[in-house]
Amino acid sequence: MAPKGARAPAAAPRRVAHASGPEAAAVADPGSAKGGRPGERLDVVDVHHHVGSAFRALGGPIEADAAREAVQAAQVELASRLEIMDRGGVAQAIVIPGHGYERPNGIADTRAENDAIAAYRDRRRDRFPAAVGIVEPRDGAASFAEIDRVANELALAGLSFHTRFQGVSLDSQWIRRYVERMAGHGLVPVIHAMDETPEEALWKLTALARALPSVTFLALDAFGSYESTRHCFHVADVAANVLFDTSLSYNFDFIEEFANRFGAERVLFGTDLYSHPVGRRISHILGQILESGLDEAAKRRILGENARRLFRLQDSPHAPTRASFSSDGA
Ligand SMILES: [Zn+2]
Repeated sequence: MAPKGARAPAAAPRRVAHASGPEAAAVADPGSAKGGRPGERLDVVDVHHHVGSAFRALGGPIEADAAREAVQAAQVELASRLEIMDRGGVAQAIVIPGHGYERPNGIADTRAENDAIAAYRDRRRDRFPAAVGIVEPRDGAASFAEIDRVANELALAGLSFHTRFQGVSLDSQWIRRYVERMAGHGLVPVIHAMDETPEEALWKLTALARALPSVTFLALDAFGSYESTRHCFHVADVAANVLFDTSLSYNFDFIEEFANRFGAERVLFGTDLYSHPVGRRISHILGQILESGLDEAAKRRILGENARRLFRLQDSPHAPTRASFSSDGA
């Protein structure tokens, strides 16, 4: 049981092995239990958590999260997420608003979402070291000032696009222009690319990435089906500047093949966890990564190092040194 002080906002990132609580104790160390070298620990960073709702926009009940703005609901949401992370062996997560938020006040509502995700990060910066915001392509040129604001005032790490919610196609030239503006601030373009949604088709991601070859893109949800997973091999082949998260994949076997072919640096652990009560557990993919045939260095990249590099996060003080990674020869 970790000391109470480990939960303080200023505390160092918590690790799998130090997870507290009765359920966490049962899976205290998936790193050493499932292939990690004895005594070593894995710092797991999940790059894909949503704080908020999408489900009213996806067929869920309108009332589903009507009370989520209440203080008590916010406390339940945070406590639930931390418990899920502890139980699942996830030390830290990158948080993104839910793209299903309603915006009767237009860009003011989008600004409020960005303010809220920055505040969420700041409540537990030890667990949420970076937050990603949203701009809406339907706001056209009005979004440029918001891009500047999230970088300069909120210190967000990136901006997420999920065009199935945004009323535009991923090949919208507004998105391309936004990404150009973001690049000047070092904001990471986080692109939902669920191929089964025509507006998020992988060919549109490919076109965007090839148009801006100096920018590194993080694609989310791209391994969501067998066909789209195979499609990702093609995207990776023709666009070296696209990284992929593991969300929605039904197993890790194809991603293991992907990592062997294109390099583990192209894959980031992500789970698409939504707020309570929708999100209940960390994806089974984590266990499959730990049990996979990838070597230890590759697992470390996928589970944390790649995220730290992309979002410029500080190394966990508990993580092995970089010198020890290089000793693996990978
Ligand atoms: Zn998402």
